[in-house]
Amino acid sequence: MGKGFFEVPIAVNEPVKSYAPGSSERKELLDTYKELYNSKIEVPLYINGKEIKTGNTETMSPPHEHQHIIGKYHKAEKKHVEEAIEAALEARKKWATLPWENRAAIFLRAAELLAGPYRAKINAATMLAQSKTIHQAEIDAACELIDFLRFNTQFMTEIYAEQPESSSVAWNRVEYRPLEGFVYAVTPFNFTSIAGNLPASAALMGNVVVWKPSDSQVYSAQVLMEVFNQAGIPDGVINMVMGDPVMITNTILQSPDFSGIHFTGSTNVFKGLWKKIGDHITTYKTYPRIVGETGGKDFVVVHKSSDAKQVATALTRGAFEFQGQKCSAASRAYIPESLWSDVKKHLTTDLASIKMGAPDDTSNFVCAVINERSFDKLAGYIDDAKKDPNVELIAGGNYDKSKGYFIEPTVLLTKDPKYTTMCTELFGPVLTIYVYDDNAWEETLKLVDSTSEYALTGAVFSHDRYALEQAVKALENAAGNFYINDKPTGAVVGQQPFGGARGSGTNDKAGSKQNLYRWISPRLIKETFVPPTDYRYPFLTEK
Ligand code: NAD
Repeated sequence: MGKGFFEVPIAVNEPVKSYAPGSSERKELLDTYKELYNSKIEVPLYINGKEIKTGNTETMSPPHEHQHIIGKYHKAEKKHVEEAIEAALEARKKWATLPWENRAAIFLRAAELLAGPYRAKINAATMLAQSKTIHQAEIDAACELIDFLRFNTQFMTEIYAEQPESSSVAWNRVEYRPLEGFVYAVTPFNFTSIAGNLPASAALMGNVVVWKPSDSQVYSAQVLMEVFNQAGIPDGVINMVMGDPVMITNTILQSPDFSGIHFTGSTNVFKGLWKKIGDHITTYKTYPRIVGETGGKDFVVVHKSSDAKQVATALTRGAFEFQGQKCSAASRAYIPESLWSDVKKHLTTDLASIKMGAPDDTSNFVCAVINERSFDKLAGYIDDAKKDPNVELIAGGNYDKSKGYFIEPTVLLTKDPKYTTMCTELFGPVLTIYVYDDNAWEETLKLVDSTSEYALTGAVFSHDRYALEQAVKALENAAGNFYINDKPTGAVVGQQPFGGARGSGTNDKAGSKQNLYRWISPRLIKETFVPPTDYRYPFLTEK
């Protein structure tokens, strides 16, 4: 910044549109969905601003109608990944030195494009290719990504304003340099907003990026590249490559200029990446930043003082929205014996009213799970549960992949609190419940804390303040996002910074300043105004 201490517009959360019958947004979105459904797109690699078609392609289909083709995407070979690294490093020469207000303007423009002209398209793409309802697409692809872009831009300026003390003899300045090299962004299928945020947050701080989206999210990733281009991100700053994740990762991690990874996905993949980075540590010019938000086995623990209807509503929304494919989805619940019959009654009544199907029928609350691999895995867990004498099927349990990958919202009741579906992340619409003796509150809190390797989200329900306080203390390390009398999902940027520890990640809180600090390397500059001319300190004089 040369000639002014500029202030960016104050960030506010993007209002969530209702898409109520008769609203103009509903018509526009459903028309756009239909248009996309009836056309076929071709997604190239984006390297140095160029669209690269390799000819080695994979088809794309909606999870709710897997025989219907909506396009294909091109897959990279090793040489393309190397070209993407080269393009990024070349772009860095200008991007890293560009005054920050230009970066701010670009990403604020991207937010405004998503809020206006691209809103219907990004939401329709997410509904179609990731099988989200209108509401789930709106809170993810439009609103959360807009919030990430606006809030991060404000956080960037707040970080830049953090400066050390100075005195009349010397001025201390800190400049927040981007990392020396390039950042590798690896993103999951389940949130279009995360897919956009992981490359964008690093680029906002002056970094250049090679981005590898999930195979199951390429369709909406392409719309994001369109938005980034429209917003004016220069060529080579964000390069997108798809294909074999192992080949792409191995090529990236062999580069001496690899300076950080921004990952969201499953725990085992992240642990494998961390190991590989360790194996190559002597290759790198700088210690790479390793940021990963990973799996969860998120809990709802209920005290006997709670309201059964509130609990059942939190479970229905927390476990089954977006088919339970949220890292924060409630997937294990602990209910006191005295409340169980009421919770069960409300929960089964709610679930009986839920409709399942394609997202363009807006009366559907549940759509399809992402792909056949996920469907088969979930069906296997449900079959095993049906055969297990310790498990009772309370709701759902049916599945059908003839047209789309549909799994009914399923509730299991287990007598074994360490039953596999109480511990393992399934990432689908399956909730397991353990009913405990009302008098075993403290023991149950210990059980919640020690049952899984994860610590992402969790919720406690209680009207008894003492019991609440006990839970807050006992579960201090069991969740990075802890909810009181609420469902464990639905974190909003700027309000509930998101992330967990233990097996759930490095807890660098997406949508907060903490995350942005990982993409900068501060340099302190001390400038002395009148340097001394005599080395002797006063204490050296004899008298
Ligand atoms: P995933 O781990 O299968 O894939 C994530 C990314 O890693 C994809 O881009 C994929 O292609 C890539 N990948 C897969 N195998 C790889 C390998 N061997 N080497 C390098 N890259 C590889 O995850 P997913 O199914 O896309 O997403 C669901 C997972 O993400 C769940 O575990 C969920 O809990 C987690 N998640 C966590 C958060 C969070 O904030 N904690 C948010 C969203 C999703």
